[in-house]
Amino acid sequence: MMSDLRDLYQDLILDHSKRPRNFGRPPGATLEARGYNPLCGDRVTVYLRVEDDAVREIGFEGSGCAISTASASIMTESLAGRRTGEALRLFEAFHRLLTSKEKAPRDAERLGKLEVFAGVREFPVRVKCATLAWHTFKAALESRPEPVTTE
Ligand code: ZN
Repeated sequence: MMSDLRDLYQDLILDHSKRPRNFGRPPGATLEARGYNPLCGDRVTVYLRVEDDAVREIGFEGSGCAISTASASIMTESLAGRRTGEALRLFEAFHRLLTSKEKAPRDAERLGKLEVFAGVREFPVRVKCATLAWHTFKAALESRPEPVTTE
């Protein structure tokens, strides 16, 4: 199991887990939501400022495994400046990448760096680590007050 997991921790994932980008609450944030993955113990809070239907500021705080932290970090980079509808479509494409049985899921959406998580699909438990920040982003966008869990 350990060596299999190590294979998942590619350079980009390791880098983002050690030096997460956009960590902290952006000064102008007006929306936030908290997420929790009980299977692994990952916790994340996502902060947003949305204006003119686009993500103007995004940041996160939290603690968890390397995959959850790296996923949150790469998510903030991927979503900054995007239209909200586009952001939600990217989440759907990312979720398909992680859960599809196909070797290379065909997606019109360009996943960019998010492709590094493709290997997570071999580890169903880890899918929840990788998607926690995204579910929490969606909750913040919809301003749902109750905490999110991956269950
Ligand atoms: Zn985790």
